[in-house]
Amino acid sequence: MTKTRTTIFNGPKQLEVREVELPALGERQVLVKVKACALCTWEQRFYKGSASEDYPFRGGHEVSGEVVALGSRAKTDARPGDGASLAIMTRCGACDNCRRGMDNFCENDDGGKIPGLPWGPGGLSDYVIVEDYQLYKAAPPYDYAALALAEPVACVLRSVEAPALEKGDAVLVQGVGMMGLLHVQLLQLRGVRVLVSEPDAARRQKALEEGAIAAYNPMEEDGKQFVQDHTGGRGVKAVFFTAGGVPAIEAGIPLLAKRGWLCLYGSIHPKGPLTVDPNLIHYNELVITGTFSHTKSSFRQAVALLAQGQVNTAPFISERVAFPKVDYAFERAISPDTYRVVVEF
Ligand SMILES: [Zn+2]
Ligand SMILES: [Zn+2]
Repeated sequence: MTKTRTTIFNGPKQLEVREVELPALGERQVLVKVKACALCTWEQRFYKGSASEDYPFRGGHEVSGEVVALGSRAKTDARPGDGASLAIMTRCGACDNCRRGMDNFCENDDGGKIPGLPWGPGGLSDYVIVEDYQLYKAAPPYDYAALALAEPVACVLRSVEAPALEKGDAVLVQGVGMMGLLHVQLLQLRGVRVLVSEPDAARRQKALEEGAIAAYNPMEEDGKQFVQDHTGGRGVKAVFFTAGGVPAIEAGIPLLAKRGWLCLYGSIHPKGPLTVDPNLIHYNELVITGTFSHTKSSFRQAVALLAQGQVNTAPFISERVAFPKVDYAFERAISPDTYRVVVEF
């Protein structure tokens, strides 16, 4: 039995670090010493009290760590001491969606239930137990804060690969917080030119530093004019919505070129009806789609890109906080001047 401290969200701004005992390691499981856990918007919503799911909750799903022990039949080439990223959402591998390669829609994702403990991924803990398929061995030297970002990289990879794009196309990213900024980086791996819409001047500047070719303020500037100026009047081949709510989405659709793609990456809070002129879709052959979460395939690619240095996580890591200072870490995470806050162990 392994004792671990784990972070339980009892209610808005009610975090508790509790010592609990993990169950005995199953034969296909791996015990991991957590090294880093990044604070994603999902956990931030629990902290702020705007999450739609129930308390108590064990948060932390962007996790990296060091392998401590392996079950007798664990299917992995990792050995004790190896560093890894953890895809901490559970996937059954047997449901119809998993068999179609759509394991982001696994019908049997149980949210990481451990008997006697609140539900949730539980990554804000000294130790976690994962299934062998959830462990993605990394390459040394291990940058654990970077490895903890494999999950958002894996999610954004699916987004940037959703539309049919050709090299040299222009695309627009709406909102350049953490996720928008990751879009800016990963879209460049597709060889496209990235435009940015973002109200905050500091964030626009950061996006330009990360390779966006131009940025505008949607609160003050005419987006249509801006996009036309940068696309020879043709519009962008894709709009990636990462933040800004329904008004931003509605403003983004008329910016699309023929056969343009509207890609809804972010979930919409507060939700609301979207008003779209259907003739815009018809006459321009537009595609409206969303991407949600990551698959085993995109997670594998994310870990490879991180290992090869093709993703530079330095701009995204705003602050590192030592566990168990979780209250302070969340206060920093919900502050508008941070991208990712990483809790280190
Ligand atoms: Zn996340
Ligand atoms: Zn499944």
